[in-house]
Amino acid sequence: MMKIKINENFKKIKPSYLFSDIGKKVRTFSSAHPDLKIIRLGIGDVTLPLSPCVIDAMTKAVAEMGEKSSFRGYAPEYGYDFLREAIARHYERFGVSLSPEEIFVSDGAKSDLGNLVDIFGDNEILIPDPVYPVYLDSNLMSGRRVRFLAANAENGFLPLPDESLTGEGYIIYLCSPNNPTGAAYEKNELAEWISFAIKTGSLIIYDSAYEAYIQGSAPHSIYEVEGAKECAIEVCSLSKTAGFTGTRCAWTVVPAGITAGGLSLSALWARRQATKYNGLPYVVQRGAEAALSDEGRKQCMSLVAYYMENAALIADLLKKKGIWFTGGRSSPYLWLKCPGGMGSWAFFDYLLENIQVVGTPGEGFGEEGKGYFRLTAFGSREDTEEAVHRMEALL
Ligand code: PLP
Repeated sequence: MMKIKINENFKKIKPSYLFSDIGKKVRTFSSAHPDLKIIRLGIGDVTLPLSPCVIDAMTKAVAEMGEKSSFRGYAPEYGYDFLREAIARHYERFGVSLSPEEIFVSDGAKSDLGNLVDIFGDNEILIPDPVYPVYLDSNLMSGRRVRFLAANAENGFLPLPDESLTGEGYIIYLCSPNNPTGAAYEKNELAEWISFAIKTGSLIIYDSAYEAYIQGSAPHSIYEVEGAKECAIEVCSLSKTAGFTGTRCAWTVVPAGITAGGLSLSALWARRQATKYNGLPYVVQRGAEAALSDEGRKQCMSLVAYYMENAALIADLLKKKGIWFTGGRSSPYLWLKCPGGMGSWAFFDYLLENIQVVGTPGEGFGEEGKGYFRLTAFGSREDTEEAVHRMEALL
């Protein structure tokens, strides 16, 4: 019998991850009805292939790896200079000036968001509800105290600082455009968070994984807003922008000037990464560099445009049916109120059993998500049209 102690904090998190629960339900249904075609508008994975310029760059890099003279071993823990520089140039598109040394390349925003917890002590954590579940679970795993920021129809799913937040030294997670609600902060709203963070000595962890989907005036980076370099770390990813969910590439920006406890956060993160991370493959970094070039961005934005056309198809149907929803504009996600007052899981079962369309129950993203449902625009055009057609008949 094992005599070791486990991390007891794991007992505080829900035993299974949202998408495993969904997967189980879908597998059970599909083994009972093998002849019915299931359309998945649930999990937020992309379906279009990588852009040609990414493939070209990666193919060339593979050839380099096959030659003694150009072979590379371990990649630098923070990313090759060529990619850190390409990311810095990418930020110039939004009028943001960063030094490549402030950019730390990694294999995913999920890993970075989970790993960032390592460099902080026992601060009170503010997490929007509903939101991408990784912020909550990774903080609970480390035994952190979490407080939720209710995001609901009244505040447009964009919570702002209010008088109930009387403490200081918070770590505040913001996700914009938000997964799952699709709501995106405008500059003046982010300015409120920034001034709150500066006033209370708090740090913002800003997740901009969906920046490429922004239509309109919402900022693509928190650093577009004054003061952010004093109080915000930004995590971004090529997963949804360039179809890198299976290829993997993301980065975290830790501005040089932020210090806490007498140490620079950038030095802490560098130390953490150098100890526990051994760098992203060279081939992938060349692909990422290509995705961020002018031609690459153009090609990737055509993938985004395709998904946004899917979003428009779903949005039109919801409007036609008088179903309240948000998102689908600066986001590949549509966040709808379950019709007829149905609960999130009841609506999930209703769609699965009647028309074999799979979405994601809102309450999987937090208590405030009860009664809501997320559909994604990441499916193929054919599947999205078919799902819309089926929903039109059922709802
Ligand atoms: N952040 C948000 C808000 C996401 O929705 C996701 C993925 O769905 C991620 C981060 C993860 O990104 P990556 O694929 O780079 O790990």
